[in-house]
Amino acid sequence: MATVLSSVQMDNKVTSYISKNRKMLINGQWVEAASGKTFPTYNPATGEVLARVAEGDREDIDRAVKAARAAFETGPWSRMTPSERGRMIWKLGDLLEQNLEEFAELEMLDNGKPLKVARVADVPLAVDLFRYMAGWATKIEGNTIPISAGTKFFAYTLRQPVGVVGQIIPWNFPLLMAAWKLGPALATGCTVVIKPAEQTPLSCLRLGELVQEAGIPDGVVNIVPGYGETAGAALAAHPDVDKVAFTGSTEVGKLILQAAAGNLKKVSLELGGKSPNVVFGDGDLKTAISGSASAIFFNHGQCCCAGSRLYVEKSIFDEVVEGVSAKAKKINVGPGWEASSDMGPLVSEEQLNRVCGYLESGRSEGAKAVVGGGRHGDKGYFVQPTVLVDTNENMKVVREEIFGPVVSAIPFTDYDDVVRQANDTVYGLAAGIWTRDIGKAHRLASQLRAGTVWINCYNIFDAALPFGGYKQSGWGREMGHDVLELYTEVKSVCTAL
Ligand code: NAP
Ligand code: MG
Repeated sequence: MATVLSSVQMDNKVTSYISKNRKMLINGQWVEAASGKTFPTYNPATGEVLARVAEGDREDIDRAVKAARAAFETGPWSRMTPSERGRMIWKLGDLLEQNLEEFAELEMLDNGKPLKVARVADVPLAVDLFRYMAGWATKIEGNTIPISAGTKFFAYTLRQPVGVVGQIIPWNFPLLMAAWKLGPALATGCTVVIKPAEQTPLSCLRLGELVQEAGIPDGVVNIVPGYGETAGAALAAHPDVDKVAFTGSTEVGKLILQAAAGNLKKVSLELGGKSPNVVFGDGDLKTAISGSASAIFFNHGQCCCAGSRLYVEKSIFDEVVEGVSAKAKKINVGPGWEASSDMGPLVSEEQLNRVCGYLESGRSEGAKAVVGGGRHGDKGYFVQPTVLVDTNENMKVVREEIFGPVVSAIPFTDYDDVVRQANDTVYGLAAGIWTRDIGKAHRLASQLRAGTVWINCYNIFDAALPFGGYKQSGWGREMGHDVLELYTEVKSVCTAL
C-alpha cells in the first residue's frame, strides 16, 4: 500500500479512507461484522492489500434486511413525498460530483482502471444516473381505466414500491453499478440492502457516506460487503426480501434464481454476453476499426457488452484485422495512476488466470494471436490486448465470455451468413453494426437477438436508454423508464360509485 501511495499524488481523503478498516452500513450506523471478521481488498496493479473491510455474512444480512424492512414499513422514508425523495437523490448526485476526484482515485486503486477513464466515464455516468432517476420520483403514475363490468365503477391503478430490495453487484464498474441499482430503487420508494463485489467494495461504501449526507433516512440504504457464497447467497435467499437485482455472471445468475424461489421474490438479472460486432465492406473503415478496437478493449474487456466476436466481411477482413491489431499495439498497458496508461490490470489474480486460461485454450485449439496473446509483465494482473484469428465457431474463445481484452476476428461471406453467426450464441446483450447502408443497418438491428444494438458506434450508455439482455444475458431492463417496472408493483383499485 505504502509503495503505491508514495509514488502517486493521491487525494488526501483517499489516503485517509483506505488507511482504516472500512465498516458496513446498517440502519444508519457504521458497524463491524457480527463475526468480527474482515477481508482484504487488493490493488490489482501491484497485488498488494489496499484496505481491509468488514466481512458480512448471513447474520449481518439479516440485520440489514430488518433495518430495511423497518425503514420501508414505518420509517420517515415511507412518509416522504416523491418530491422530497427526488431532491435527496439529486443531492446525492451533486455530492458525488463534488467528490469526483476522490471517487475516481478509489475506483482506480480498487478496480485497476486508469484514473483518466474513471474521471470521465465511471463517476460522471453515476452522477448523471442519480440526476435522471431523481426526476422520475415525481413521475411514477398509474392510470384511470374505463371498465366494462358496468357503468357505475371508477377504476384506476397505483404503481407502488416493491418493498425491500436486495442488490448484488460486480467489480467491473463498482460505483456505476451501485448507482444503476440504487437510483431506481430510491426513486420508486424502495429500501435496499446492497452487496458490493468482494474485489471492489470501497467506492460503494464511500457512497454510503454520501447517502447519509444527502439526508436519506437511516435504514433506507444498507451496505453489506462480503463474499458471494455467504453474504450474497443469504441476501438472494432471504425470506423477507421482496426483490433481488443482480449483475454478474450467467452462472451465478442461475443460482440467484434458485435462491429466490423460496419466497418467490421478484428477480432481475443483468448477466454476461458474447456480443457480435459486425463490420461490412461498405462502412467507414477508419471509424469502424477504431470503434471495434474500443468495443473490446474499453475497461480491459471487462464489460458484459464487450464486442468480443468481431465479424468482418471477407473482402476487408485483412485490412480490419490489421487495423484493430495496430490499435491494440498502441495501447499503453500500465498502472491506472500513470497518465500514460490506457489500460490497467485485470481486477484480480483469478481473472488473470481465467483470461490466460482462455488464451491457452485458443492456442491449443488452433487459434492464432495476431497481436498479444499473454500476460503483460510479471507484477500485477496485466494482460496484453489480443486479437485472435483462425478460430472456428466451436472454440471456447468464440463461445464463452472471456471478460478480458481478447477479441476473435471472424470473416463472413454475406448478410445471411452474418445473421446466422452473430445470433449463434446463448447470450443476447449487445451488438455493433458498421455500415453506410442505413436500410441494411436497421434491418440487421431488428434481426439481432440482443438488448442493445449500436450502429456506427459502440459502448454508448445513457441513463435514459434501457439496457439488458435477451436469452441468457438476463431478465429485465435497467435505466430508462423501463427500470421503474422492476421496482414497482401495480395495484388495481375498483370503486363502486
Ligand atoms: P460473479 O461471481 O457473478 O459475481 C457477481 C456478484 O455476485 C458479486 O458480488 C459476487 O460476490 C456475487 N456472488 C457470487 N456468488 C454468489 C452466490 N452464490 N449468491 C449470491 N451472490 C453471489 O462474477 P465473478 O466471479 O466476479 O466473475 C466471473 C465472471 O462473471 C467474469 O469472468 C465474467 O465473465 C462474468 N461477469 C459479468 C459481469 C457483468 O457485468 N455481466 C460482471 C462481472 C463478472 P463475490 O464478489 O464475493 O464473488
Ligand atoms: Mg481491489
